[in-house]
Amino acid sequence: MRYYFLVFIVCEIVISLYFHNEYKTKLSNMHENTIKMVENTLDTTLNTFELSNDDFHSQHADELSKLIHKANGASEKERDKVREELLKSFMSFYSNRKLHSLEGMHIFDVNGHSLLRFHKRNKHDDPIIDLRPSLQSMLKDFTYKKGLEIGVYKESYRFQYPLFYDGEFVGSYEYNISFKALQKEMEKFSSYHYFAIFKSEDIEEVASLKTLKERYEKINAASENFYIQFSLFHHDSEKEHFDYILTLENIQKSLRSKEIQVIDYSYKGKNFDILVKPILDINKNHIGYMLVFLDADHISELRYEIFADMFLASLLSLMLLVFIIKQIKHKIYTRELINMQQDILLVTDGKKIKDANRSFLKFLGFETLQDFEKEHDCICDFFIQDNGYLQKDNDGVMWTDYILKHPDETHQVQIKDISDDTLRVFELEYEVLKESGYLFIVFKDVTDEMEKVSRLMNKAYHDTLTNIYNRTSFEYHLDQELKRISRTGETFSLIMFDIDHFKHVNDNYGHDVGDSVLIELTHLVSSRIRETDIFARWGGEEFMIISSTNIGMSGVFAEKLRETIQNHEFKHVSSVRCSFGITEHTLHDSKESIVKRCDNALYDAKQTGRNRVSVR
Ligand code: GH3
Ligand code: MG
Ligand code: MG
Repeated sequence: MRYYFLVFIVCEIVISLYFHNEYKTKLSNMHENTIKMVENTLDTTLNTFELSNDDFHSQHADELSKLIHKANGASEKERDKVREELLKSFMSFYSNRKLHSLEGMHIFDVNGHSLLRFHKRNKHDDPIIDLRPSLQSMLKDFTYKKGLEIGVYKESYRFQYPLFYDGEFVGSYEYNISFKALQKEMEKFSSYHYFAIFKSEDIEEVASLKTLKERYEKINAASENFYIQFSLFHHDSEKEHFDYILTLENIQKSLRSKEIQVIDYSYKGKNFDILVKPILDINKNHIGYMLVFLDADHISELRYEIFADMFLASLLSLMLLVFIIKQIKHKIYTRELINMQQDILLVTDGKKIKDANRSFLKFLGFETLQDFEKEHDCICDFFIQDNGYLQKDNDGVMWTDYILKHPDETHQVQIKDISDDTLRVFELEYEVLKESGYLFIVFKDVTDEMEKVSRLMNKAYHDTLTNIYNRTSFEYHLDQELKRISRTGETFSLIMFDIDHFKHVNDNYGHDVGDSVLIELTHLVSSRIRETDIFARWGGEEFMIISSTNIGMSGVFAEKLRETIQNHEFKHVSSVRCSFGITEHTLHDSKESIVKRCDNALYDAKQTGRNRVSVR
């Protein structure tokens, strides 16, 4: 029972491990989908901006280049004029784009000084390049740049286009959208909430003190200081939630690992996912993290689903186990029953033994079937050759095939019993097993039964005192002899003899001596007759001999026998004599007629003085 319990526990552990793994895989797939969704949303939002920027650039780059070329190195007045022209040409475009979250449009001259801010038209000609690494790198390679950058007021996504006049770099211009504007755009696509935190040293390097005070809050996470914009929170509870997240061990780990990750957690009884995505700036420096909050009801659903499946699997495994235990118990029970059988039972495919019971091993002296197989292929190696018994090979037919070919015959084999060196006789019963086609054979030990029958047969056909044939046997053999000669046309003689004055033996020496005389006499006669002669006790002290000879020869034999008896020295009595009547079979003789004639011949012998042979 303890063993089965152990199996059940192992099953449960395997099931738990499997479903735990299943849960992890599904969760990780969900996380991957979340990551894809967020990245797609970000890319799509930025692409939308970029596409319309590109469109503008292809149409107006030449005009812009021409005007900036004019402003480069020009007097203050000239530059004001250029600014006026720029505003005239592009203000309506800028206003239109502003409706769609574009926040800044900024034109720089060849030295990276501000020429015109569409979003702050009064501020210009400042050396903005000193605060903008992106602008500095533009002046190095004059190529298009895009990416997030921390500014004096806020952090923004910038799209920077270089401008050329007559193949010469003349300046550049930039569109930007703040992270807040990006957050607004992205939240249109889904119910996710987007936040960004920036390393404090990066913010402090660029942002003005006023900005730091008015726009940002300093926070600490994973032993680092960050800034987050107040305005990103939609309401106070969101800020509370946000603060709670920063205390989570997993989040801290994730902030240190600098890899995009999704983390599950629950807050106020609800499941959430948070995506942590490192932010690289326009020059590929790591400056902070984007944090995306998602409702994660699907995780509870997944947990319920996995739990339900696990429960079902456990139930099924339990049912299966109960079924298997029942089967095993039934098998053990059946095996015990088979082993309890005294008969040898075995299953064979005709070549090899497939199974056998304990009696088989015990009788042949093996511990296991494997031990037997090391030395033998077949039980038939033990069959003793003898007439009437099945052999391993029966005129070219294997014993198993022979059994199948002769279903109506009784098949017996002889095997030596190693425990007492005696021969045992087994009767074979068999059945062809339905599924496998194997032969199931029962070796029934019939030795004792056969001996009993043989003893009974002996008793029925032999005289108990003298052990020679009795009257029943005599009559049977006389019948047989009559049949034989009717077929062959040969002849036979009947000899009947009776002890003379036997009454005196009994009277003088007692009945026991009388018995011993009868026994001694039968031994004497048995030693003198031919093997083919039938010698039987007819009754009392009268005997019969059926001899397959004619009257002449049987007469001579009877005479010899009479003399032998007369001359024999019996143990307890001085002498015994017998009278003989003999006759030969004649045509139309019946059993009764020939016996009668012989009896008459004996009568003649008695009448004419005894101790003689009379013929009729
Ligand atoms: P006879 O044949 O010469 O005329 O004389 P008898 O004395 O032999 O006479 P009878 O044949 O009439 O008697 C046979 C006796 O044999 C009678 C019986 O007591 C005895 N007898 C028959 N069967 C047995 C037996 O099995 N054992 C012993 N001890 N005596 C037997
Ligand atoms: Mg008699
Ligand atoms: Mg007699």
